[in-house]
Amino acid sequence: MSKSHKGLNTICTHTGEIKDEQFQGAVSPIYLSSSYAFMDVDVKRYPRYFNTPNQEGLSKKIAALEKTEAGMIFGSGMAAVSTALLAFLRSGDHVVLQETLYGGTYNLVVEEFEKYGITYSFTEDLSEAAFAKAITPQTKVIYIETPSNPLMKVTDMKMVATLAKKHGIVTMIDNTFASPVNQNPADFGIDIILHSATKYMGGHSDICAGAIAASQEHMDRIWNLAKNLGGSLSDLTVWMLERSMKTMALRVKAQNRNAKKIAKWLDKKDEISRVYYPGLKSHPDYKLAKEQMSGFGGMMSFELVSHIDAEDFQKALQLIKPSMSLAGVESTMLCPAQTSHSLLGEEERAKQGIADGLIRFSVGIEEKADLMEDIDQALKAVLKKTVLVAD
Ligand code: PLP
Repeated sequence: MSKSHKGLNTICTHTGEIKDEQFQGAVSPIYLSSSYAFMDVDVKRYPRYFNTPNQEGLSKKIAALEKTEAGMIFGSGMAAVSTALLAFLRSGDHVVLQETLYGGTYNLVVEEFEKYGITYSFTEDLSEAAFAKAITPQTKVIYIETPSNPLMKVTDMKMVATLAKKHGIVTMIDNTFASPVNQNPADFGIDIILHSATKYMGGHSDICAGAIAASQEHMDRIWNLAKNLGGSLSDLTVWMLERSMKTMALRVKAQNRNAKKIAKWLDKKDEISRVYYPGLKSHPDYKLAKEQMSGFGGMMSFELVSHIDAEDFQKALQLIKPSMSLAGVESTMLCPAQTSHSLLGEEERAKQGIADGLIRFSVGIEEKADLMEDIDQALKAVLKKTVLVAD
């Protein structure tokens, strides 16, 4: 079987592994050297040049998973995002970003870009007309994220890639929520694919890392800046990430299955007024999600009815952890109004459709019956408390 035909679990398990020539061990050895020979070698290796044996090995896995020529590993998702954006933008350039974005990316743009002379526009919505309207003659990059946080809105990747190509603009996507298991943006013509590897790639809530997948030409440009900015990941953590990614497809597919079943179940509950999951037919972007995703992911949000307090509900959970971040094997929940979107203020949140009772749910790999039981007991406990207070 040729390399390009390997299946997902085989890529996760084997692609980029380093052969242990000395002892024939089954897994990649770790090379922790920060100093390598410079004489009589083809490649001058150094951790901040992103080319140690472990970095190179894992980069191959990232590229194979995203079906691109090249991959790179970074010290965090934001190191990957900032390096990619700054590699393609210089003073006088303009970037179009979709309306809903991860808060850290939004902050990077609105807090930092002005000092580099880079201008930006956020689209009014996710339609083709909104992207087209935001493009100026100076636009060099269009940046999207799908599904996006917290309402799981889906952006049409093919539409964005086609529009951008017409104008000679480079496209970037944050593919963190979907993971390469559920979505390969390169199939739709997106140029540069970014990940917070802290999420599904790491998958155990114990690694902070980032990744980029792109053509070799685009990656060379990213590398030129990356080596100067210095956002590389330690080889020990690179090795841990490689280990985690062996089970990524198994984990993510289990999370997909749990999330789909639980979303349907939540949708029927009296205590829940709305469920946002791209795999539900009631989601406004269901048709598009079905076209461009092979699985609907493990992320959803739901709204509690107004008389249930979001904080009380989260405190009453016994198995599911109220916790920041996402995509671990363990299920976690958070309330965007209290956390990721607290700085927006009530009015802006309402405008974006983020209710105070909205809960973001990162579904883990636990038995779905146990997760449902935990949600049920938490709802009962909060309702009991509400009745007692009313009495
Ligand atoms: N993109 C998305 C969608 C995220 O959720 C996050 C972090 O939560 C990031 C990027 C940034 O990643 P990191 O925290 O690894 O820097």
